Amino acid sequence: MVRSVVFSKRRSTVTALVGDVGVGSSHPVVVQSMTNTDTADASGTAEQVAALARAGSQLVRITVNNDQAAAVVAEIRQRLDDMGVRVPLVGDFHYNGHLLLRKFPEAARALAKYRINPGNVGSRHRDDNFRTIVQVAVDHDKPVRIGVNWGSLDQDLLTTMMDANAKLAEPVDARDVYIEAMLESALRSATLAEETGLAHEKILISAKVSLVPDLVDVYRRLATRCDYPLHLGLTEAGMGNKGVVASAAALAILLTEGIGDTIRVSLTPKPGGDRTEEVYVAQQILQSLGMRSFAPQVTACPGCGRTTSTYFQKMAEDIQGYLREQMPLWRDKHPGVEEMRVAVMGCVVNGPGESKHANLGISLPGTFEEPKAPVYMDGKLLMTLKGEKIVEEFLVILEDYVVRTYPARATAGV
Ligand code: SF4
Repeated sequence: MVRSVVFSKRRSTVTALVGDVGVGSSHPVVVQSMTNTDTADASGTAEQVAALARAGSQLVRITVNNDQAAAVVAEIRQRLDDMGVRVPLVGDFHYNGHLLLRKFPEAARALAKYRINPGNVGSRHRDDNFRTIVQVAVDHDKPVRIGVNWGSLDQDLLTTMMDANAKLAEPVDARDVYIEAMLESALRSATLAEETGLAHEKILISAKVSLVPDLVDVYRRLATRCDYPLHLGLTEAGMGNKGVVASAAALAILLTEGIGDTIRVSLTPKPGGDRTEEVYVAQQILQSLGMRSFAPQVTACPGCGRTTSTYFQKMAEDIQGYLREQMPLWRDKHPGVEEMRVAVMGCVVNGPGESKHANLGISLPGTFEEPKAPVYMDGKLLMTLKGEKIVEEFLVILEDYVVRTYPARATAGV
């Protein structure tokens, strides 16, 4: 694997097991995601969980917000098992987790981890409700993520800390108090969880905000104050390019500093959009940093005046799409294929050079160039394709290369 960055030593020395997925310590950074279906729709939710898992999400979170949702959690687990999808399910609880987990023990058993937001477990009976959830986790031997959010911070704690700050001779900036209140809420809750009987290695922590500089600040501080595995992500990354770029900017800074053990990219999909996009973005962040490999990487030039038709863009898109479609099949069957590099170049200016550095490369004919496309394999010219079926013929070469270079092994479920 090519490493583009020298990484700091990973901070977390603790491994939390979520189902059979290790999070923290020397384990690779885990990609996770969350459904946006109505959990009460067991069939639709199971289908989306399966799609996210097949895209490569190693953990999938579902909201468990009412009786109807909690009542079908075990059914969702069963449907996934029947599909051969083994991805651990995480339950997201707010306000009523202490009631739901007690009322629906089969849901408590079926979930591999519970997420609790300490700002959303009630006010008057906050600690009792929190302890109840933790006790269920202890009883079922499940880990818990204590997930603090900027938008739902424990208001009593924040008020107390703001008041204390105001009385100081030199009060600090309100933003600092906010950040410290988030950390205090997370760490105080972790202490309470351990006092309730939850093992140290059963606790993960997140403290999410929506702005990049704030997230970096929060996690840098958090990383110096505890050794729990940390879940990273902007709480509301946003839509489209903004969400992708903001997530990449924030996570790249922290991950290269060795901070973070699991990530989620919280993209807002377009209406009817594909939820799996958040998985691909998270994977691409890790792969771009050289931290993990998930799928063959396509090196495509941006195109220029030498590629005046859309033919080149279309071909690059077709090849990228083919790789993405094949990956769920290849992942288990052809281990190592995720390290493959494919170059799709617009003309011969940089085409052969980039192609030689890739496992497979093709240079299309630029405008006014002779209509032929040299194909390189492992640094050597293999053949030159011509005619109308260049993409199809290249994909046959690609498939053949995968089969020969990454020998097949028996498939397994996701
Ligand atoms: S490889 Fe050719 S088409 Fe692509 S950007 Fe460079 S000069 Fe332009």
